[in-house]
Amino acid sequence: MNALAKKFIPAKLGYVLRNLKLTIRGIYYSGKKHYCPLCGHSYRRFFSGGFDLPVITEMQIIGAGRRNDNICPGCASTDRDRLIHALLISKEFDFLPSDALLHIAPEPALYSWLQKSKSELLNKYIQGVKYHEGFYYNSDVRLFDLLAIPFDNESFDLVICNHVLEHIEADQKAMREIYRILKPGGKGILQVPWSPILEKTYEDLSITSVEDREKYFGQFDHVRLYGRDYPERLKSNGFEVQIVEPNMLGFDEKYLLSISINPKEVIFVVTKQV
Ligand SMILES: [Zn+2]
Repeated sequence: MNALAKKFIPAKLGYVLRNLKLTIRGIYYSGKKHYCPLCGHSYRRFFSGGFDLPVITEMQIIGAGRRNDNICPGCASTDRDRLIHALLISKEFDFLPSDALLHIAPEPALYSWLQKSKSELLNKYIQGVKYHEGFYYNSDVRLFDLLAIPFDNESFDLVICNHVLEHIEADQKAMREIYRILKPGGKGILQVPWSPILEKTYEDLSITSVEDREKYFGQFDHVRLYGRDYPERLKSNGFEVQIVEPNMLGFDEKYLLSISINPKEVIFVVTKQV
């Protein structure tokens, strides 16, 4: 939705119109080339999506940039969403079914799938976001700050918190909050955009302008660019870290091609030790 429409169409109506548009577009593009496991339909094409900036190419940032065959026409899931879904349903890993999941800043397509599947997969599914004016929030979404999560210690078996930490100045405090609310043995999926050619995370909190953040970090509201030391940063805040490559998920190549994930994208899975 463009900025003008956003200003004049109430947020809830905008949400309904978006879903209607996706439904019509999904029917129009139905076909056989791609399969979207989040909406459960097949399509003749996925759309390009994401945006490019010079730093994204120069630093070979994973989890950012423009990709072909990225967006599902029917539910707008991205390659990143479909990769997380593959991990959640993988028989090689033991994520679902589970007791309690906290999904922070939920990706809409992943959220819809979890919401639809929760009676079989989860006893408790809570979505949490930080409030931003002008957005529509479902009534079951909890509004809170990741630096002060309003839940008791050891409340959740799973936390999904993707592409959030790069927006937060006190990211290590956020990591400790996630650690605190996980049960012993609980797992988190903590994706960030990162550069495999950057040895040490680059952050400079004095870089605050939109132009400079785009130039150095790859997005107007990112406060750092994570490097190869991202797993160490997670470990130093208590977690065990496993780096999961798509080919470790136990799916055949044909399936991974049909859901069109980025083969270079690894998943950072953290565990709170028992
Ligand atoms: Zn879809």
